[in-house]
Amino acid sequence: MVCPRLVKHREEVAENPPARFRGEKYWAKPLPGFGDVDARILVVGLAPAAHGGNRTGRMFTGDSSGNTLMKALYRAGYANIDTSVSADDGLVLKDVYLTAVVRCPPPANKPTQQEISNCLPYLAEELKILRNICVAVALGRVAFEGLFKLFKREKAFEGKTPVFRHGGTYRVSGFLYGRPLPIIIACYHPSRQNTNTGRLRQEMIDAVFLRAREFVG
Ligand code: SF4
Repeated sequence: MVCPRLVKHREEVAENPPARFRGEKYWAKPLPGFGDVDARILVVGLAPAAHGGNRTGRMFTGDSSGNTLMKALYRAGYANIDTSVSADDGLVLKDVYLTAVVRCPPPANKPTQQEISNCLPYLAEELKILRNICVAVALGRVAFEGLFKLFKREKAFEGKTPVFRHGGTYRVSGFLYGRPLPIIIACYHPSRQNTNTGRLRQEMIDAVFLRAREFVG
């Protein structure tokens, strides 16, 4: 058990679901990434949502974050449907792969730095397999800084981690697993907290993926 706090949380929320999910069998295990293994665009989130991915067993599935993200991916031509409801909803991603810096849901969506470090090897393994990635969209500051933490740990990047800024595009030189580092685009996380307050509007996340599409051609 690498992160006892997160393991406890993922199991506790599964055992005590809110009324709307009562009776459902939760995934309640570490959550792998999901998407096209030949993708050129990587989307990195924070962690599976307690009642989203941790319930449905698929990244960005079964919560409002997933639906906001999928609308943007659908509009940019990377998803065949504009919702992400369950693992068997027929969603197919093309040229996009979804993952996260942490694989188990953290309480209050706040993983510790140690928990992020514990989990980064899984992201590293995915990046070794995803050989075509040239753009990485980081959803939220934690994902953004987690990516740079990985780059530094793998000696692909030296220096200060740039400051997260929604819509910012970061071209950093360096090589990771024999390939150039991807262009990073920073985007606010499509959490309900951000979408309900208007901090992230649908057109803002749509614009991020249209920009990503410009980079991959
Ligand atoms: S967050 Fe990652 S490292 Fe920690 S217990 Fe879950 S899968 Fe393991």
